[in-house]
Amino acid sequence: MTTLYPALITEALATVRYPGTGKSIIEMDMLEDDIRINGDSVSFTIIFDKPTDPFKASLLKSAEAAIKLRAPEARVTINTATRKAAPAAPAKAPVLPGVRNIVAISSGKGGVGKSTVAANLAVALAAEGYSVGLLDADIFGPSVPKMFGLEGEQLYMHEVNGQNLIIPAEAYGVKVLSIGFLIDPSSAAVWRGAMASNALKQLIEQADWGELDYFLIDMPPGTSDIHLTLVQTLGLTGTVVVTTPQQVALADARKGIAMFRDAKINVPVLGLVDNMAWFTPEKHPDERYFLFGREGAVDELAAEFDVPVLARIPLVAAVGEHSDSGRPIVLEPTVSAQAFIHLAHELTDAVAKRNETLPPTEKVHTK
Ligand code: ADP
Repeated sequence: MTTLYPALITEALATVRYPGTGKSIIEMDMLEDDIRINGDSVSFTIIFDKPTDPFKASLLKSAEAAIKLRAPEARVTINTATRKAAPAAPAKAPVLPGVRNIVAISSGKGGVGKSTVAANLAVALAAEGYSVGLLDADIFGPSVPKMFGLEGEQLYMHEVNGQNLIIPAEAYGVKVLSIGFLIDPSSAAVWRGAMASNALKQLIEQADWGELDYFLIDMPPGTSDIHLTLVQTLGLTGTVVVTTPQQVALADARKGIAMFRDAKINVPVLGLVDNMAWFTPEKHPDERYFLFGREGAVDELAAEFDVPVLARIPLVAAVGEHSDSGRPIVLEPTVSAQAFIHLAHELTDAVAKRNETLPPTEKVHTK
């Protein structure tokens, strides 16, 4: 029997087009946020603009057929609703009530080591005794499963207070979910827009994250729909921006900081991480070669925005080798581990300072 999970349903519904628009019912925001799965039964609501929508019956049929194509045994119940003129948002239960601090690990540019930093930081925090979750939201290249040795992990759900929730995988004391668990990483590029945003929301709202001191989110590089979805779904404690000292990376990091600082987004930038700051040969751990950019280039960017440089991580070949083998380097006694553990200390200090001086970040309300 095919196991039902929320992304399978949205994936199926994303193939159902509203006649005459060329858009799917997902793209037209017609799926209510209420997918319920119980064994082989699934129910959800499709919202129509008018109660007399001429395509209602045929769309409901197509929606059921699209799900049965993927899960033939599924018992499908589709409710319908009519879109209301936007009323004042009803007071909803807070998202992730047990999570104390939510930190987005971001970067302006891909390939600067954002995921590497997110993974090693998560493991370092867990080793210090904090309860930690890591959500890999990098739709362009979800690499967290590989770095934690969790590739091909099968996800399970269980019931919490009458709701079926995804159980995060766990490795090295960190609860892990990745958009890569829901999709084949090679097809990640087509997962843009509404589908990716829906999948991300499900991994946040319909997963059993429980009580966490730190919930880290490995963001896609740059700025994207995913960033907007995230700040609309959660009030972020802050973001850490990872960059290398190269000019191109710094220029993109500047844009990333500006986005989080934008008055409409308003997410505190907790600090920068200077990754691949210098090259240190394994046999000569005391030597430093500045291969990328100049020494101090990241400090200049930090000074420009009045944010700290939380850590400098040397370029060491073993960092990548450990990531590839599914065991983050922070677990081995190395100079790299020292740098990531230092980052963990600096981050906890920066978060504590932020929480003392600033009110909780508001979710972004748009539309
Ligand atoms: P991003 O998430 O920014 O795209 P990744 O974390 O995937 O970047 O890193 C890109 C590549 O650089 C990977 O092969 C990774 O192993 C390697 N890498 C990252 N940081 C370091 C480092 N400090 N030393 C050596 N290799 C690194």
